[in-house]
Amino acid sequence: MINLILFGPPGSGKGTQAKTIVSKFGLTHISTGDLFRYEIGNDTPLGLKAKEYMDAGVLVPDEVTIGMLENKLNSTPNENGYIFDGFPRTIAQAEALDELLQSRGTKVTHLIALQVDEEELVVRLLKRGETSGRPDDRNEEVIRKRIVEYENKTSPVYEHYIPTNTAAKIDGVGSLEDVFNRIYDQLA
Ligand code: ADP
Repeated sequence: MINLILFGPPGSGKGTQAKTIVSKFGLTHISTGDLFRYEIGNDTPLGLKAKEYMDAGVLVPDEVTIGMLENKLNSTPNENGYIFDGFPRTIAQAEALDELLQSRGTKVTHLIALQVDEEELVVRLLKRGETSGRPDDRNEEVIRKRIVEYENKTSPVYEHYIPTNTAAKIDGVGSLEDVFNRIYDQLA
């Protein structure tokens, strides 16, 4: 079983790479950002709550995010494993994920951090904003706020997984195929 945390700042290519990894390894892709956007699209109470945070470029509170993730895990059992994309984004979320997996007799097997420098991230996200329809990709201030949130709250999650020997950094710049091959080397 592979339980991969695909890690890295906004715009580092997690969602794009997740699609290829899913097709090669038969994993279930869980993106908390996509789950929130689905809830927003359906005008659910959860979506309404998440939207104000997302539009401001800050993290949605842990209890909301962790509850949603647990529901998704329960509704999508997969013996091959999962790709977690955009989760965990805080130490509390990492601890919750560790417990959820442990109670299912498994654990995080890999964390792969995609490394891309900040100016390249901003360029990529503004470009994505031209077509994605995502309000948080249209505004440079919101984009930079998301990167600051990542540095302050999310980057410590990498250190959380160092003692379990699961964490690796790879270069996230290059063709989609080059980046995928670097990920593949870590998983194979
Ligand atoms: P990106 O990685 O490009 O910022 P995401 O779709 O992963 O895009 O996330 C968009 C927004 O959704 C985040 O800025 C945040 O507000 C919210 N979000 C997604 N995942 C989480 C999470 N695990 N914890 C808290 N907020 C989250």
